Amino acid sequence: MSQAYAIDGKAIAAKVRADVAAEVARMKAQYGFVPGLAVVLVGEDPASKVYVRNKAQQTLEVGMQSFEHKLAEDTTEATLLDLVARLNRDPAVHGILVQMPLPKHIDSVKVLESVDPAKDVDGFHPVNVGKLSIGERALAPCTPVGSIILAKSVKHDLSGLDAVVVGRSNIVGKPMAQLLLRENCTVTIAHSRTRNLPEVVRRADLVVAAIGKPEFVKGDWIKPGAIVIDVGINRIVKPDGKGKLVGDVAYAEAAQVAGAITPVPGGVGPMTIACLLKNTVEAAQMQRGIAAVAA
Ligand code: NDP
Repeated sequence: MSQAYAIDGKAIAAKVRADVAAEVARMKAQYGFVPGLAVVLVGEDPASKVYVRNKAQQTLEVGMQSFEHKLAEDTTEATLLDLVARLNRDPAVHGILVQMPLPKHIDSVKVLESVDPAKDVDGFHPVNVGKLSIGERALAPCTPVGSIILAKSVKHDLSGLDAVVVGRSNIVGKPMAQLLLRENCTVTIAHSRTRNLPEVVRRADLVVAAIGKPEFVKGDWIKPGAIVIDVGINRIVKPDGKGKLVGDVAYAEAAQVAGAITPVPGGVGPMTIACLLKNTVEAAQMQRGIAAVAA
């Protein structure tokens, strides 16, 4: 059997960043300002520190302003809310990202809902969730936005496809389904209570796996020729004791059947920060009433 086309998330993310950089340069030349992204980190979570560092570095690389706010683990909720309120008012800040998870003594929902929806570049605020669901222009969560770009890199018009999203989280599964609906797919959302999951997945022309379970989706669940977008990032330990990252799809098996598939790593992962930068440009344009130049 032939091998599926491996969708190169690294290359596509680089293209998204290049488009963002060009748009930032245009805004600077035409309107005299560059978008600014504020990232707030509370505490010492090692993975979060790496994410925040990468986000800040890539923000600067595309020519935008980066504002990093690192707060101690014992920061009070009131202090954090106060910082968010200041960032909401700051005209140089067009996007605000509060890195999750927050320490247990802070109410994450309260903090996320305190971000001005116009600056909510993560797309988690209920106002943006609502706008996305009624089809209004909204800031949509970065990982699903990136997943759509990857799927469209294979097939520009997704209209009419049967799409199955496995996972219904607020961060990935649900917004992914909304975005696929916007692309005119016929969308099924599967989850842990779905009956006959392999059968459901087998109907899909487009499968999005966002489950959080290593290599859970098997090769014989995939319809021949389907597009497979694997959002999962799972660290497993190989028999030789070394660590390895794998997705939610059994890649080697699925690649024998699918038409195109995203690898892990190097698929959806690199798209998330690229789409955060894209969202920041979009937020700045919406705030300033600037029309975007189509990429
Ligand atoms: P959540 O744990 O929030 O959601 C997992 C979803 O999978 C739930 O809806 C759950 O169903 C469903 N699920 C769990 N077990 C099964 C099962 N046996 N059969 C069918 N469905 C099942 O995870 P996230 O959405 O936050 O993340 C999913 C994956 O994506 C993770 O591996 C995460 O690391 C990765 N991720 C990657 C990102 C990237 O940048 N590439 C960004 C964000 C996440 P139920 O609701 O019924 O419990």
